[in-house]
Amino acid sequence: MAIVEELARGADGRRRLGLKSPATLEPVGEISVATAADVQAALARARAAQPGWGATPVAERARIVRSGLDVLLRRKPELVEVLVRESGKTRIEAVAMELVACCDFLNYWSARAPDDLADEWRKLHGYMRPLKKLLVTYRPLGVVGIITPWNGPLALSLNPTVQALLAGNAVLLKPSEISPRSGAAAAEILLEAGVPKDVLQVLDGDGETGAALVDVGVDKVSFTGSVSTGRKVAASCARQLIPCTLELGGKDAMIVCADADLDRAAQAAVFASVLNTGQICMSVERIYVVESVADAFIAKAAEAAKKLRWGTPDEPADVGSVFWDKQLEIIERQVDAAKKAGAKALVGGERDTTRKGLFFKPTLLVDVNHDMTVMREETFGPVIAVQRVKDEEEAIRMANDSPYGLSGSVFTKDVQKGISIAKRMATGSVTINDAAVIYGVPEAPFGGLKESGVGRVNGVDALRDYSHAQPILIHRWNTKRERAWYPFTPATLKEIEGALKLFGPRIRNWIA
Ligand code: NAD
Repeated sequence: MAIVEELARGADGRRRLGLKSPATLEPVGEISVATAADVQAALARARAAQPGWGATPVAERARIVRSGLDVLLRRKPELVEVLVRESGKTRIEAVAMELVACCDFLNYWSARAPDDLADEWRKLHGYMRPLKKLLVTYRPLGVVGIITPWNGPLALSLNPTVQALLAGNAVLLKPSEISPRSGAAAAEILLEAGVPKDVLQVLDGDGETGAALVDVGVDKVSFTGSVSTGRKVAASCARQLIPCTLELGGKDAMIVCADADLDRAAQAAVFASVLNTGQICMSVERIYVVESVADAFIAKAAEAAKKLRWGTPDEPADVGSVFWDKQLEIIERQVDAAKKAGAKALVGGERDTTRKGLFFKPTLLVDVNHDMTVMREETFGPVIAVQRVKDEEEAIRMANDSPYGLSGSVFTKDVQKGISIAKRMATGSVTINDAAVIYGVPEAPFGGLKESGVGRVNGVDALRDYSHAQPILIHRWNTKRERAWYPFTPATLKEIEGALKLFGPRIRNWIA
């Protein structure tokens, strides 16, 4: 999450990238970009190491992954420093959004994996039950390529890596070039916990390395990042016929109903729009508030937004810097265009030019509409954008008027009403009376609709999707031949037609 500059090539011929802290503009390190040949060599090592790891009982894999908790807790001060230096986020955000989330992922998945990946006898239905038995086993896919973004670099790298490893795969992890050390820390924790060296490898680099990893011949790609890169990843995976999960961008809507607790809704609107300087895939990016309560809601949100302090990780602050220079340009462009088109910034509305680093003032925009890019494209900045709507019907219509469909939220005191609104929202997930938290709930099958992605990153299916569910069907009886086998005779036809009787109205329910 730093400012990235291309440096002169290294003595080994590799490209080198220099990184500066976005909060202070001080240098924070450099990386050497892994080439396609480096990626190929890493894959060969991973292929050699994976069978041993895949044959390790899942309980033992889980024990190793779980001991990552002790490593993480011991290394907490150093991890926080790496995170805040590279990103400019506040220390509280580094601990809350990254370390706490990582501890929960390590704890949860390692506790669940032995059951969720255990061989499973599944009862067969009706007429098959007396004839056959079914065992489902979850076998590793092989080598998984994991490519991650800069906004939650540690947690978003660790979560898929832990799942892929628990399922018995080797992992090649390519963190974002904007947050390389924070992403690599996910692997360092697990390697120190005892994951064998070549089973988990980190590839430093930018899009060049990412593209090489997608093309190199891994067995699955787990990608978290932007829609445009996601499309390229999907196209390559389609050509190779390998599975991928794509966790992409969002433009999450928050609906504030007339019966909402306005204090909670306004506080949540500010928090979930601005947390992590607004750079969360599931941040609140659009707020639709029902006209009858709009004035009161806006007044409360403005009061909360005005109190926010921004600053470097070493200053007392609620909001950190924008993590990336290019993102700051996008935020500035969208807010300026909205203001020119008639939106009002009741709070903030511009970058803080008095500071050295990349700071955009927490901003409350009203009088926005869907002609403005700030309501259509991902802003990924500390912007609380509020649009008044006539009623809840209009709010749902506006919320669904987006190419994105990652998550969303509804604020109402009537939970049943909240659920029925949620079911009409075209998003992968919805939270009621809360927002920007659901990725942190590992039971929830989090994933996007529309341009926000393909597949799930959490929930039991996400873990099992790092394996091949192999059904093994066992015939129960040792007869010489089945009556439906060759030779076909008139008696065979009669026998099979007899089976159709089972689907008549009297017993079809019983056999299902
Ligand atoms: P990005 O797409 O620019 O980069 C993501 C990763 O892909 C980086 O590691 C990058 O080096 C790599 N990459 C770049 N070009 C590549 C290529 N051609 N092939 C393979 N890999 C390549 O995204 P970003 O700017 O780092 O991340 C921000 C985006 O991620 C936002 O849109 C945000 O909403 C999204 N995001 C989504 C989720 C989610 O769970 N849905 C979570 C966090 C972030």
